[in-house]
Amino acid sequence: MSKTLETSPNARINKTLLDRYAKLEIPENKVIVTYIWFDDCIRSKERVLNLAPTSVNDIPIWCAGHGEDDGSLSEWYLHPCAIYKDPFRGGKHILVWCETYSGDGKPSITNHRNNCAKIAVKCSAEEPWFGIEQEYLFLDNDGQPLGWPKNGYPGPIGPYYCGVGAESVYGRDIVDAHLRACLYSGIRIFGTNAEVLPGQWEFQVGPSSSVSVCDDLWVGRFLLQRIAEEFGVSVTLDPKPVRGEWFGSGCHTNVSTKSMRASGGIEAINEAIEKLSKSHEKHIKAYDPNGGKDNERRLNAGCVTAPIDKFSSGIADRSASVRIPKTVADAGCGYLEDRRPASNCDPYMVVATMLSTICLDE
Ligand code: ADP
Ligand code: MN
Ligand code: MN
Ligand code: MN
Repeated sequence: MSKTLETSPNARINKTLLDRYAKLEIPENKVIVTYIWFDDCIRSKERVLNLAPTSVNDIPIWCAGHGEDDGSLSEWYLHPCAIYKDPFRGGKHILVWCETYSGDGKPSITNHRNNCAKIAVKCSAEEPWFGIEQEYLFLDNDGQPLGWPKNGYPGPIGPYYCGVGAESVYGRDIVDAHLRACLYSGIRIFGTNAEVLPGQWEFQVGPSSSVSVCDDLWVGRFLLQRIAEEFGVSVTLDPKPVRGEWFGSGCHTNVSTKSMRASGGIEAINEAIEKLSKSHEKHIKAYDPNGGKDNERRLNAGCVTAPIDKFSSGIADRSASVRIPKTVADAGCGYLEDRRPASNCDPYMVVATMLSTICLDE
């Protein structure tokens, strides 16, 4: 028998027993802080503090083990940089998103927030806003897409995107729990929808400023994985989780500047697209963690994608690299959507690269 949801160790645990402990009173002066960071995957650990922190400066820098490529173990510093409310424990307990620094005090190899923040400061006069659409696929305990037949494929695509009904939709409980947890935490979540594959979903964050939209996306990813864990389900951000004519997952990134949002802003939007068209390769390199390799499987001109080696743009064109939404074209101002970033991208790299091209002409 193949392992399925029923055999997932997490799904089998009786959750009602948890209530007994969740209701236990915690000493007045104690706050549970969950440090969250990214090295090769999202990680977290708890620390009990004696004071309710009011800013990241009240939270101690901490450290965590980090596996080096040569197999040795070193330590990274965890620098608290953004506070969220803890939707699992409620009350005064918090989550803290951290930047990582290696032993020599330099940003670690996977810390792109530091550079993104520096670039964002240079662009502040244009007040850039970003909105990011995170697509992902739920996996069952056996690693197969959630709800798919165990020895075959689901029916042809069509009813699943924004779908309704037990025959088309899998995992809505998790998606809705995640939406509420994001709102509670203080993440600026924009919305959610079921995607083209059964078991594939999306949530969007923003619009908000450059660094904070990325902080929100990372913590939103953490909450998603953490909530799905309780249901015995995994989340994959692989940009092409199923081979063949099955849609991949992206991280469409929408951007606007003050000039784009102002009346007649379509001119600034077209100027930005012109600049993007001249730096396609630089962007592809930054849009997945493997310098374009992961996106190669997804951006193949099939399944409503543009080919990875050729830039294109258009109004309402979802097969282009960059799209101007119909409503934006109608209004003559607003934002543009870059459809190239992969679902497993680091948003700090995507945002930093877009800023450098659009606002700094680099
Ligand atoms: P799509 O039609 O591509 O699926 P969605 O509705 O999923 O679009 O997402 C729209 C995204 O656009 C959201 O992430 C939202 O934050 C973002 N957005 C809306 N207005 C702006 C704006 N002025 N600047 C930047 N991003 C914006
Ligand atoms: Mn969308
Ligand atoms: Mn989508
Ligand atoms: Mn989109």
